[in-house]
Amino acid sequence: ERIPDCILVLDATNQVIDFNLAAQEKFGLQKKDLGHPVETVMARWPNVVRLATATVTQTIPLSLILREPNLSVFDTRLTRLEDDRGQLYAKLIIFRNMTLRYRAEQDLKQRLKEIEGLHKKMRELAERDSLTNAFTRRYLHDQLSVLLESKPPEQRFVVALMDIDKFKGINDNYGHAAGDEMLIALVNILFSRTRKGDTVCRYGGEEFVIVFPFMLMEQAVGLLERIRSDFQQWPLSESKASTTISIGIAEYPTHSQNRDELLDLADKAMYQAKQAGGNRVVVYGK
Ligand code: GH3
Ligand code: MG
Ligand code: MG
Repeated sequence: ERIPDCILVLDATNQVIDFNLAAQEKFGLQKKDLGHPVETVMARWPNVVRLATATVTQTIPLSLILREPNLSVFDTRLTRLEDDRGQLYAKLIIFRNMTLRYRAEQDLKQRLKEIEGLHKKMRELAERDSLTNAFTRRYLHDQLSVLLESKPPEQRFVVALMDIDKFKGINDNYGHAAGDEMLIALVNILFSRTRKGDTVCRYGGEEFVIVFPFMLMEQAVGLLERIRSDFQQWPLSESKASTTISIGIAEYPTHSQNRDELLDLADKAMYQAKQAGGNRVVVYGK
């Protein structure tokens, strides 16, 4: 009578002949329900009726969720009671109360979802520069390793390293906030001019690297010239700070097949561009 699980007893003709206190409360049963068919007494729970009236000897346990009067979850099983001659004389339906476990599982699911969200956030923090939203140097290194280790190896790719000319002067003359704005503007240009598979990365303070998989050198030069020109024209209307960029390019596998060396060669080409007065694109070795 006192256990928290609900118990319902039927006779061989599926008439309700007994129930305990928990069943009485959960299903709103009354003494006058005794002696009536389960189909009427449990009419509000058709799957319980189905379980009770199933003709098969083995029935599949039923998971039952009640929302009223408050959330209850039951693992429901039917046991057939037979006499010595195998004659069915009663059916016992036990509703095991699994509400606490159900709540704990829901809670765990919710926490897992939160943890997943945090992981995503952490990944983004490790992959994206917070000022410009360009990828980080760490992400770039991972991407380059993927390209270099892919089997069969990628056909070719181009690495461009760019540096803003006289950027210190922008900060000095217009303030650090104007410098920040310029960095963001440059990255917006880089994202708008590149394809989805290209990697735009903030390599250092005012240095950026772009990796162009499957691109011919001539195509890369054309594209970088457009980027250089876009940036030179920024800001378009206001008579505010403006400057230029210098870009160095190296190509895999022609110039090097090593990640760090490729970046180093692009840097050398960029330095050459600076030496020649800046605001230009220089291909390594040319
Ligand atoms: P060059 O033409 O030779 O490239 O000279 P430069 O002035 O561009 O180069 P330098 O290395 O002397 O100065 C880079 C400056 O970039 C110095 C540093 O304060 C600034 N810088 C680095 N990161 C940031 C940033 O996040 N925001 C701003 N506003 N400035 C930054
Ligand atoms: Mg620099
Ligand atoms: Mg610079």
